[in-house]
Amino acid sequence: MRPGDDVIAIDAKRGVERSRSYVNGDGHFRQSSVGIRSKRKKTNTTRFDVDKLGEESILQQFQQGIKDALNIHTNRLEEHSEVQTAWEIIKSSVLEIPMAFQESNNTGYWGKPTATIDWCEKNYEVNYYVAELWNTISNLMMIIPPLWGIWDMKKQKFAQRFFFCYSFILVVGFGSLAFHMTLLYEMQLFDELPMVWGTCYCVYCLSIVKHDMKSKIVPNKLLLLILITISIGFAIIYLAWPQPLLQHFCYGILVAISLAQEIKLILEFKCAVCKRMFIVAIALYLFGFFLWNIDNILCKNITTLREQIPMFLQPFTQMHAWWHIFAGYGVYVQVLFWNAGNTVMEGRETGVPTIGI
Ligand SMILES: [Zn+2]
Repeated sequence: MRPGDDVIAIDAKRGVERSRSYVNGDGHFRQSSVGIRSKRKKTNTTRFDVDKLGEESILQQFQQGIKDALNIHTNRLEEHSEVQTAWEIIKSSVLEIPMAFQESNNTGYWGKPTATIDWCEKNYEVNYYVAELWNTISNLMMIIPPLWGIWDMKKQKFAQRFFFCYSFILVVGFGSLAFHMTLLYEMQLFDELPMVWGTCYCVYCLSIVKHDMKSKIVPNKLLLLILITISIGFAIIYLAWPQPLLQHFCYGILVAISLAQEIKLILEFKCAVCKRMFIVAIALYLFGFFLWNIDNILCKNITTLREQIPMFLQPFTQMHAWWHIFAGYGVYVQVLFWNAGNTVMEGRETGVPTIGI
């Protein structure tokens, strides 16, 4: 008996199933509902005739099955070399824990998920039309603040580049909303590609903060060319090799570069408001990133905890949704910080950009 196998106890006389279980990755039996067809990829099915063997005997065979499955699992782990094991740990902490935990998930309106990542929130648990409800609605924090920002920058006649910064957050917000709502691969790209393109654009904007906007010359042409090449190159490679770690890596590097640029600017600005905005933005973003990791690594524990607390508190344990809220607002405050810095450079009054929410 191996992980993934179905184990069915049948009542041969009546021709009905008594109970249905399957062996999960840890070698434990998990109960499947009788009469409901398992959506997991099936390997082997072991059937027990209740009348012939008796319930007790079946129970013993079940227990033996657990031992066999555990032995297979342990042997398989020992076969890996040390390097492979380290790689497995990184992979499982980032991706496979949420993926593995989706075994008992339902399917809904959008069908079987085709995205390369399935997050910790159980699919179609609350609504038939929304795969991950809390991960979906939390994206409003990446939609409402940038809409406010666009309205504010138009009203106060700020540089056009802030319009594009807010627009990128908005596109990522809608992309992420569509991704978590459907869990379809196309929607995943709608979320992940603008994340990289938008951060490339921000790196460019941060490099030209001190440039005179009235001048017709395009500043920093070489960096612009490099960032356009990175954006196109990443899209081509990612479409050919849809490995989420590649996206996480590229996005992470670009965020680190923009962070370094911001620290350099903060030292030059000598503006107390800008400094405060920068600290708030970074604290919000990093706290969100911490929750993103907690959601991936401790998915199983959080889910168990969620099942034990009152229903109205359960949505608050969706750590990926909190990541959207903190990171979404953190990125918005970051654009406010660039805007405030720019007003200092131009000699305008500071404190002009408004907080949004
Ligand atoms: Zn997300």
